[in-house]
Amino acid sequence: EIEAPVELATTAPVSSGVKISNRGRVIFPEGKLTKGQLSDYYEAVAEVMLPWAGSRPISLVRCPQGRDKKCFFQKHDAGSFGEEVKHVGIREKDGHEEPYLFVDTPAGLLTCVQMGTIEFHGWGARIEDVEKVDRLVFDLDPDEGLDFKAVVSAAFHVQDVLAQMGLVTFPMVTGGKGVHVIAPLTPTAEWPQVKDFAHRFAMALAQAEPARFTAALAKARRAGRIFIDYLRNQRGATAVMPYSARSRPFAPVAAPLTWEELRDLDSPAHWHIGDGAELVKRARSKDLAHWGRADQILPDL
Ligand code: ATP
Ligand code: MN
Ligand code: MN
Repeated sequence: EIEAPVELATTAPVSSGVKISNRGRVIFPEGKLTKGQLSDYYEAVAEVMLPWAGSRPISLVRCPQGRDKKCFFQKHDAGSFGEEVKHVGIREKDGHEEPYLFVDTPAGLLTCVQMGTIEFHGWGARIEDVEKVDRLVFDLDPDEGLDFKAVVSAAFHVQDVLAQMGLVTFPMVTGGKGVHVIAPLTPTAEWPQVKDFAHRFAMALAQAEPARFTAALAKARRAGRIFIDYLRNQRGATAVMPYSARSRPFAPVAAPLTWEELRDLDSPAHWHIGDGAELVKRARSKDLAHWGRADQILPDL
């Protein structure tokens, strides 16, 4: 079943060469999972993670003392990450430029892990031109207590409507509560156009199916429905990267999968940091080798 990888190296997992300190430190009290286990996971998946997560501005969820201790979301460094964690200057609203982070090597990824990173989040644009959007993402956020089956059928509905508009989409389970439906884009459209499309799409969906969807951010207004979070599609917003670990109990990971697999999946937190080898094998299989790849532009809405 497993075919030769497409556009991926055929060699054994690369070793980043980054020295990880405090390998025995427990980062996930549930299951007593350590910094060593987390870094081994990222060493394993670096090669299949970087084609998507590499070379785009990233934000980190860092929990140096463990996920149950102080964690912070970090967009910039103070130059303390060393040369493998690189900088791209991005213009802020007030006109001045800020250095954002990106990695494009296993060593860059693992340096972030050495610095206590659990999660990697990324922009929907590449460093070559951060104004040109290379993916549309609909983040399906279910109301508390809603069955995962409802999220799955909602994801299929989003897939269906986007397909009718000519967009190929790929699903990813987040390792948390939901699913991201992702449409790769040839980077031509800029943020205002993409945000406008996403917003109008979400509102149209909520209007057509008010019993299942809401486009309103307030949790109080979800009431048994799924919030179709279109806000991941605005300039500066991030979404969790494929293969990122999550700072949640038992260290689940965000995982790309096929639509067929999603149909019968039990949980959005199906894969964990112990599944690195399996995830790499999956990523190289013929069903997933082309995940997230499509040459397409936004249709009219
Ligand atoms: P779930 O499936 O549980 O919803 P998720 O990754 O989609 O998992 P959300 O809460 O829906 O989680 O999305 C939060 C998004 O907001 C993240 O993707 C992240 O990139 C972004 N974000 C922006 N600021 C922060 C912050 N301070 N802390 C965490 N996430 C942040
Ligand atoms: Mn979500
Ligand atoms: Mn969300």
